[in-house]
Amino acid sequence: MATTINAFEMAQSQFDHVAELLNLDPQVSEILRWPLREFSFRIPVRMDDGTVRVFQGFRVQHNDARGPNKGGIRFHPAETIDTVRALATWMTWKCAVADIPLGGGKGGIIVDPATLSTSEKERLVRGWVQVMWRNIGPRQDVPAPDVGTTPQMMAWMMDEYSKLVGAYTPGTITGKPLGSGGSLGRTEATGYGVIYTVREAMKHLKMDPSKCTAAIQGFGNVSQYAAIGFIEILNGKVLCVSYYDRADKVSYTVSKAEGIDPHFLMTITDQYGSIDKTKAKAAGYTIEDGGEWIKKDVDVLIPAALEGQVNADTVKLIGPRVKIVAEGANGPTTPEADEVFKTKGIFVIPDFLCNAGGVTVSYFEGVQNDMNYYWTREEVLEKLDTKMTIAFKGVLDMSLNRKVFTRDAAYMVAIDRVVKAMQLRGWV
Ligand code: GLU
Repeated sequence: MATTINAFEMAQSQFDHVAELLNLDPQVSEILRWPLREFSFRIPVRMDDGTVRVFQGFRVQHNDARGPNKGGIRFHPAETIDTVRALATWMTWKCAVADIPLGGGKGGIIVDPATLSTSEKERLVRGWVQVMWRNIGPRQDVPAPDVGTTPQMMAWMMDEYSKLVGAYTPGTITGKPLGSGGSLGRTEATGYGVIYTVREAMKHLKMDPSKCTAAIQGFGNVSQYAAIGFIEILNGKVLCVSYYDRADKVSYTVSKAEGIDPHFLMTITDQYGSIDKTKAKAAGYTIEDGGEWIKKDVDVLIPAALEGQVNADTVKLIGPRVKIVAEGANGPTTPEADEVFKTKGIFVIPDFLCNAGGVTVSYFEGVQNDMNYYWTREEVLEKLDTKMTIAFKGVLDMSLNRKVFTRDAAYMVAIDRVVKAMQLRGWV
């Protein structure tokens, strides 16, 4: 059933399509189709039992014309250089569309973090920094959390970097915990950012949020706060979330007709987004097949798991009521599924606009680290809302003025900004 996709080919094909629409100079495209720098390295780690295991690590710096490279580090057993390239490329567009002065980067390690002990994880992330420290830093490249990595890991990485350079340097990494240079509002930033863009899309489509329902794929950090935001910011109802069950090695959809309670579900979820389904069942939730979320009779679909989930196969399952697809994940929709959305007139809030809230508050975290002065949660979320609302409007205006699909419009806004920076710096 699952369609095999190469995320980097997908990112390049999205870019090529818009480069053609924009009649972009081929010399400019040649720079933007590929990352500027790539690091691929091995990290030997002493395991708790005394043996040494070697892990494959990556860091890809796609483009830093607008500022230091920025983007998360993902721990995933199926990580490849191509997924990291794709994610780094999308980060360049994300920072540009959000209009924050940063470029695009991404890192990864091929590993299932749930198979490591706490101290093995610490040695692994410190090992990553020991390889990369000369090529990261507040003015070069600033990593952050992503799938499989946590604020605690960011604190260890910041500590390792600070020790190596001999100076406390909190701004070298973001998504740190509170009390070690982290920002208030960072935990909920991506999910709430998704909801701010959904709110703006609903205004545009003249939908009443309090009468709307959503189905969410995933129950990691993004999904959890998107669910809370959909209920608490929009007054809407979330009918289900899905998650990957580590023990059963399959995904499940966890639903409740009267609406799920994300706060309750979070109390029975582990740090990797795996829900205790026995406890969920006992609390009156229905446990269904992992693919069921996309078939729900809802107004809004929020894919917030991994790339390629809404594809030629699964897009056929979407119900007639769906009006908005808000892409909380990076690259959840394949080009084939996009064609279906265009035909059906479904309003897509493209990933690098929709989920830009995380990196936006990462940027705020870096600013606070530089100032050594910290804002309140309200200040952070207010600034985030302003940024997301302006970014949404920029993309919507481009889409309406040029009569193009929202994803293409987001690319147009982002590419314009990156090309302008490259021209000003004399690269092209
Ligand atoms: N990993 C997140 C993303 O994909 C956040 C990146 C960051 O904060 O640098 O946007």
